[in-house]
Amino acid sequence: MSSITNVTVLGTGVLGSQIAYQTAYSGFQVTAYDINDEVIEGAKKRFAGLAETYTSEVDGAAGGKADEALTRVTFSSDLAAAVADADLVIEAIPEVLDLKRTTYEALDKLAPAKTIFATNSSTLLPSDMKDFTGRPEKFLALHFANRVWKFNTGEVMGTADTAPEVFDEVVEFAGEIGMVPIPIHKEKAGYVLNSLLVPFLNAGLELAAGGYSDPHDVDKVWRIATGAPMGPFQFYDIIGLTTPYNILTNGDEHAQQLAAWLKENYIDQGKLGVATGEGFYRYDK
Ligand code: NAD
Repeated sequence: MSSITNVTVLGTGVLGSQIAYQTAYSGFQVTAYDINDEVIEGAKKRFAGLAETYTSEVDGAAGGKADEALTRVTFSSDLAAAVADADLVIEAIPEVLDLKRTTYEALDKLAPAKTIFATNSSTLLPSDMKDFTGRPEKFLALHFANRVWKFNTGEVMGTADTAPEVFDEVVEFAGEIGMVPIPIHKEKAGYVLNSLLVPFLNAGLELAAGGYSDPHDVDKVWRIATGAPMGPFQFYDIIGLTTPYNILTNGDEHAQQLAAWLKENYIDQGKLGVATGEGFYRYDK
């Protein structure tokens, strides 16, 4: 068992709320911190929504367990109070390097020496932030996937400075909150998940945008020939087309051609994926 008892999550957005709620659902005392009381009020609604989702989607959550988890969450917009007795702080604030760095600098001054810091960043490396934490030996990444109750990987990735016992402690903790811990032995942009998923999605897009095959046929080949449940365009629809479009527009000339194809054929027609009822496929609202 890990020696972690009190967990503070910074950021109550899409992932922060899920991480905090899942941690409370697993029996831990959790403090959910965000920047001001107005955001906190919104967060309370988001957490109540998660309790409803768990009640309907998670085995064993009905009959009070999902609501009981809410009683273990304390909300705070006071960073000093939020981290005063934290064993572990999980940071899930926006993916902006400077914001993360200044947050770690502030955090280091306020958190006790015992506190481990973990970032949930998807695209930044922990070594981009470690020198701002004041405690690189107690800093690493713990990366969750969206919809943590269902897609429950916990990728754990340290820097060369992360103490091995801290790494092991966080691997243990990830298991305690219902994640399947995935230790990553060396720093790798994209962890395991995105190192596999991004090239796969790009390859699908190349085939369709290059006129080699149609999106539905690309997906069919992948499903039938490998037995996998979903092809790349089914993933695109779930992720939403805006994020890949934004990433591609910042890329080289070829990436920009792929972006233009997405824009002309889908985005300009409001086909953004599951969220808008249509992307590469149509969905019942
Ligand atoms: P989000 O925009 O939904 O939420 C960010 C939250 O952080 C907001 O509630 C915001 O008020 C709060 N915030 C802003 N500045 C803050 C500060 N200084 N201190 C504390 N809170 C602050 O973002 P998100 O999608 O939840 O992403 C958060 C992190 O999780 C990012 O690093 C992202 O890469 C990572 N992540 C996201 C996903 C995803 O699917 N959305 C998946 C895995 C990892």
